[in-house]
Amino acid sequence: MTWEEISSQQLQGLIIQRGDFPMVNKKLYTLEDLPYAFNALEPYISETQLRLHHDKHHAAYVNGANAIFERLDKARQAGTDIDMKATLKELSFQAGGHILHWLFWQNLAPTTKAVKEPDGVLADALKNEFGSFERFKKEFSSAAASTEGSGWAALARCGLTGRLLIMQIEKHNVNVYPQLRILMVLDVWEHAYYLDYKNERPRFVEAFWNIVNWDVVNKRLEALLK
Ligand code: MN
Repeated sequence: MTWEEISSQQLQGLIIQRGDFPMVNKKLYTLEDLPYAFNALEPYISETQLRLHHDKHHAAYVNGANAIFERLDKARQAGTDIDMKATLKELSFQAGGHILHWLFWQNLAPTTKAVKEPDGVLADALKNEFGSFERFKKEFSSAAASTEGSGWAALARCGLTGRLLIMQIEKHNVNVYPQLRILMVLDVWEHAYYLDYKNERPRFVEAFWNIVNWDVVNKRLEALLK
């Protein structure tokens, strides 16, 4: 790969991590300013509440996630081992918190500009799935009110069926990063390997590396970079 090719991939935000080349463009999360004034959501959300939520709570997720990325980068450079289970659990909590707040601020509008009902393809999609906007609101409100613990209610779209789904995201992670597109996956439920490997999951994981379709994984990444 030439330097020209690397810099063109840098422009596309691709993280390069190949033998002879330095790691480039490893971004960290940033706490963006709100797309409106702190008092713009009053009287529904007060300025004091919003400042605290954005400047303290959201900021803590950004700082927490970045601290873990820095720890990961250091360990990779030094070639030292890290506790993957603990690190990934913590990272999904911090990154999940950041990503969901980032989405949340953007899907709120200043009180003076907010309209009561959606328009366009969203209106059609909600009507197709739920029957009516009112029915969607009722289901979403009920999902939000009954989410266990500290969590989120989310409207999402399934890429396989195109259907809209309401999700209750408990504790905003359980080790899944919202919005992240999966490039490769390995099923480690016992049903995936027990007949062949019994309780020896690490042997199954080792075997997996012999049968990965890297062409497909590469194509998934290419599709995201378009
Ligand atoms: Mn929050």
